[in-house]
Amino acid sequence: MSPHTAQIEKRSTRDWQAADARHFLHPFTDYRQLAGRGARIIERADNIYLWDSEGHKILDAMSGLWCVNVGYGQQALIDAATRQLRELPFYNAFFQTSTPPAIELAETLAELAPEGFEHVFFTGSGSEGNDTIVRMVRRFWDLQGQPQRDIIIGRINGYHGSTMAGASLGGMAAMHAQGGLPIPGIAHIGQPHWFGSDRSLDREAFGEQAAAWLEAKILALGPDRVAAFIGEPVQGAGGVIVPPASYWPAIQRIADKYGILLVSDEVICGFGRTGQWFGCQTLGFRPDLITFAKGVSSGYIPLGGVLVGARVARALIDQGGEFEHGFTYSGHPTACAVALANLRLIRELDLVRKVREDIGPYLARGLAAIGAHPLVGEVQHCGMMAALQLVRDKHTLATFDPALAVGMVCRAHCFREGLIMRAVGDRMIVAPPLVMTREQVDEMLALVRRCLDLSWNELQERQLL
Ligand SMILES: *Cc1c(COP(=O)(O)O)cnc(C)c1O
Repeated sequence: MSPHTAQIEKRSTRDWQAADARHFLHPFTDYRQLAGRGARIIERADNIYLWDSEGHKILDAMSGLWCVNVGYGQQALIDAATRQLRELPFYNAFFQTSTPPAIELAETLAELAPEGFEHVFFTGSGSEGNDTIVRMVRRFWDLQGQPQRDIIIGRINGYHGSTMAGASLGGMAAMHAQGGLPIPGIAHIGQPHWFGSDRSLDREAFGEQAAAWLEAKILALGPDRVAAFIGEPVQGAGGVIVPPASYWPAIQRIADKYGILLVSDEVICGFGRTGQWFGCQTLGFRPDLITFAKGVSSGYIPLGGVLVGARVARALIDQGGEFEHGFTYSGHPTACAVALANLRLIRELDLVRKVREDIGPYLARGLAAIGAHPLVGEVQHCGMMAALQLVRDKHTLATFDPALAVGMVCRAHCFREGLIMRAVGDRMIVAPPLVMTREQVDEMLALVRRCLDLSWNELQERQLL
């Protein structure tokens, strides 16, 4: 790169791939496999589309990584970053100092949050938000004179990030298998995944049963040992698992009964994804703490944090003394300025209501039609996130041998057809930008259908059906 220009000069795809393989250790990646194949180099984006280094246009049905809620290329966010970088790119919030963007964002979040949330702790990411949750929850119980209440219950196949605490709260077996996780004081219960159960109960009865696992775990551990329960309103990385409607209200009753704190990890569900500002409003529960990240800044710049409800905030503020926790980038002014512009844009475009009343239901209708496809055994959706469960037999709902990696077969077709749809096992998932038009939903679903057809043909040719 020339020292006189900030521009990154264009190289050939091969060149990028070779340098990538030589130096860049990607997250959640098999390095040898990637080096053999070469990374796909994404060069630019606009609205809901990406372009790779070969000039292919790709419809991004995953909003980057569940975060680009307002789509790419929004000038208001670009301008907010530019202005703030010029004015005050960075200052910390440690030593009794503050900055206007951080103050204004905290104020705005308190306004948008469910009732009872007046305080915000900023972090640089969702994982750091969940590390903050662990420290805050345990500090809360210390201050209540119950320091033995230190166990936080999460769920198998939940995702709460990749730091030591985030990965521990999450229930991903492959993550726990590396690095001695979970850390002490974390327990897990099963997920409210009806399709993955033995399906002997109807969905709502199953939802009650899955919630009852929480009570059983509390009783097994001892009610005086349990500090909190954490869950995503709708599990994202676990495969867009929408719980039965009975689940969260039953969880709420159990949390209330034992007085434990309820934590909603809204890193994906927050900021309109489910058709409300926060997923707990769609799913019907009242958390004490909310983790956020991703959609707060539409991913244009890293930002996360914790919304702190009155119960915990009062303890920290009135009795806590110094809270010995924080990050260099807690309240990063440029990140906060971009988030403010993002939230303003979501309001101006009325995106939350549109997801709830227009584009979400429109997506749901289109998906219902795709549900007739012979490969699809279950369709689940909530606002602008959805899952298609691939099955071997539509009538018995028999699934494929996991070793066949049928989800990856479908994903390979998506890759070639210019669609980013993710595979979680044999669940194909989408979480497109909230700004999608009806025409773009049609375009996306036509691609989805085509990729399902191509997968069907391939599986037939390989005699797997
Ligand atoms: C992505 C995600 C996280 C982790 O956020 P990072 O910014 O990647 O650290 C935590 N919780 C949920 C629900 C997520 O989807």
